[in-house]
Amino acid sequence: METSSHLLEVNDLAVSFFTYAGEVQAVRGISWYLNKNETIALVGESGCGKSVTIQTVMGLLQSPGRVTGGSVRFEERDMLGLSAKELRQLQGNHMTMIFQDPLSYLNPTMRVGEQIAESYRLHHKVSRSEAEARVLDMMHLISFPEPERNMYAYPHQLSGGMRQRIMVAMALICNPQVLFADEPTTALDVTIQAQIIELMNSLKEKLNTAIVLITHDLGVVANMAQRIYVMYAGKIVERGSAKDIFYRPKHPYTWGLLASVPRLDADQSRDFRYIPGTPPDLLNPPKGCPFAARCRYACRACVSSIPEEMAFDSEDHRASCWLYHPGAEALLAAAERERGMQR
Ligand code: SF4
Repeated sequence: METSSHLLEVNDLAVSFFTYAGEVQAVRGISWYLNKNETIALVGESGCGKSVTIQTVMGLLQSPGRVTGGSVRFEERDMLGLSAKELRQLQGNHMTMIFQDPLSYLNPTMRVGEQIAESYRLHHKVSRSEAEARVLDMMHLISFPEPERNMYAYPHQLSGGMRQRIMVAMALICNPQVLFADEPTTALDVTIQAQIIELMNSLKEKLNTAIVLITHDLGVVANMAQRIYVMYAGKIVERGSAKDIFYRPKHPYTWGLLASVPRLDADQSRDFRYIPGTPPDLLNPPKGCPFAARCRYACRACVSSIPEEMAFDSEDHRASCWLYHPGAEALLAAAERERGMQR
């Protein structure tokens, strides 16, 4: 992995939650990086460790969570060694976040314009009227309908899509270098989802903000991310460019995620696909491949030892799966045949 040019770098990060029942190993040695003005996605089912990873990177990890290994570097700064004051300066100003459910994040008793202005005044010493002018600019930038009127609205007076736009405005008003978006479109209907994705894409270009998208839905990722990290049970099981993941996926878990993206040409009453089974208990993580209990191609080696990461067509396309071990050719051929029949 190159080190010099990356805006953000996570190396071998491990995070555990120390509960009465024992140590839950939520993130188990993951590495990824983000370049300036790039969008990447961390994709996986809930509980795979993606949100914990982002909370750790932003310095928002709460007890009983604790970093047990690895490093996080932002512009060469060691994020895990920063004081609370230094972290506060970074949060909002350089790194910021939007969440799935704006209603639980927005203050119901404050007008939305005031809430955006508050985010700005937290990091900039400006007067109320200067902040208000900046809010209005931002609302125009995000193409908010009737900004002069709607900046005085309360959250409950706006639609779900408009509230998510307000969250985007709050997150970007300080012009941060990195925006973390945690399931930003999950609570929205499909048309509004598309509008929010388009908005984030256009703002990224206008403001030069890099985006880390966190989602369980590969469909959302297709229109946004240049690179994708697929996470399962606290590990990255496959990573690559969006083209690698969508056109040349290698890991059976990625195959399952792709198969469960709804297709326009499918009969949803018959063709709905999902990955059977549940992820492993991270209080006692499995000894071998974490996906083995749900994988139809699992063999003895999968259960007894963790697969090594293998590189494919490009150095950046990698997956951890025994199917690609030189001795597993017959198994791989059978898997490819079966996948071909599923398409
Ligand atoms: Fe399936 Fe084995 Fe590959 Fe794990 S290592 S994904 S169990 S084939």
